[in-house]
Amino acid sequence: MTASDAPTARAPAGLRDRRGRMLRDLRISVMDRCNFRCPYCMPRETFHETYRFLGSHERLSFDEIVRVTRLLVRLGVRKLRLTGGEPLLRPNLTDLIGDLTAIEGIEDVALTTNGTLLAKHAFELRAAGLQRVTVSLDSLDPDVFMRMSGGFGGLEEALGGIEQARRAGLGPIKVNAVVQRGVNDHTVLELVERFRGTGVIVRFIEYMDVGNRNHWRREAVVPSRELLERIGARWPLAPLEPAYRGEVAERYTFTDGGGEIGFISSVTQPFCGDCTRARLSSDGVLYSCLFATHGTPLRDRLRSGASEEDLLDALRALWRERADNYSEQRHQGAQAAEGARKVEMFYIGG
Ligand code: SAM
Ligand code: SF4
Ligand code: SF4
Repeated sequence: MTASDAPTARAPAGLRDRRGRMLRDLRISVMDRCNFRCPYCMPRETFHETYRFLGSHERLSFDEIVRVTRLLVRLGVRKLRLTGGEPLLRPNLTDLIGDLTAIEGIEDVALTTNGTLLAKHAFELRAAGLQRVTVSLDSLDPDVFMRMSGGFGGLEEALGGIEQARRAGLGPIKVNAVVQRGVNDHTVLELVERFRGTGVIVRFIEYMDVGNRNHWRREAVVPSRELLERIGARWPLAPLEPAYRGEVAERYTFTDGGGEIGFISSVTQPFCGDCTRARLSSDGVLYSCLFATHGTPLRDRLRSGASEEDLLDALRALWRERADNYSEQRHQGAQAAEGARKVEMFYIGG
């Protein structure tokens, strides 16, 4: 796809929010549970053995997810990303992928996973129509990885998952690494070196204040600019044009032909102006921002016989009323933004 024919955030026709942004992307959290306890997402002290996750009847069924997705496609959605919690913990996920990829109008279906179960499922995911995977992997240092997964380890499994995904053709594979100062920032170059020249695209994500339970501190954020300088000093880099408007990652290419890397800088360079994403939680609440304090609950309406028109009206209203720009507010130093009661990342999906 070229930059000119790609969906734009401000195309003249179609449903638009109060800031003129269209609805293009849907992130679907298929599972609130996870086999990791990354402290920046699901800290152990909160998400312990007795934490009450959703029961299976409380999660949207595959039919319900497909129904909501079809409606959102009518309102503009073209790209889907399945996430969680850990999406590969959801039984029979390939069935859902098969149903979603068959929806007319959907152009791209991807999955974000911690990779530990990916080797087992990569080929069946590809066969079901999944196009791409993103694997979250914060460090190649086993001790650092152990700490960042909340003590669960699994580095070798995640690397095995990436390799199997490559064999299955689930590419281009992206590796997402959240960088925290004093935790894994000293292992960034190693991560770049490992994947340079392999076709796998490493993307560094600024540590975000998602939810209210991860003890976020601004001092722990490593600005992308700093990483860019460090990586560029070792392997010269040149900026790439965005592949399409609204792309969240700033992309760079290694000038020696070693491939590309990306930076997602929601804290230091917010990109709310082009944000075309909605998020569906595993229990069927639709959110218009990752940092939302409330959403539109759909599950009970779906289960009590709401008509297509009723549901479409609710979805249209949500998007028309949307004015979210949390990261811009945070950037401008709005205290109210950081203090608000927000949904948690594991629940809404990254
Ligand atoms: N469990 C899967 C995984 O880790 O890839 C999917 C869900 S996870 C919530 C999605 C993404 O959110 C991951 O790449 C993770 O690193 C990122 N994430 C979670 N908490 C974050 C935070 N506080 N700041 C930045 N990224 C975060
Ligand atoms: Fe689980 Fe992903 Fe959150 Fe880590 S980032 S706790 S793997 S949902
Ligand atoms: Fe989109 Fe909200 Fe993130 Fe801004 S803060 S880019 S509106 S999800």
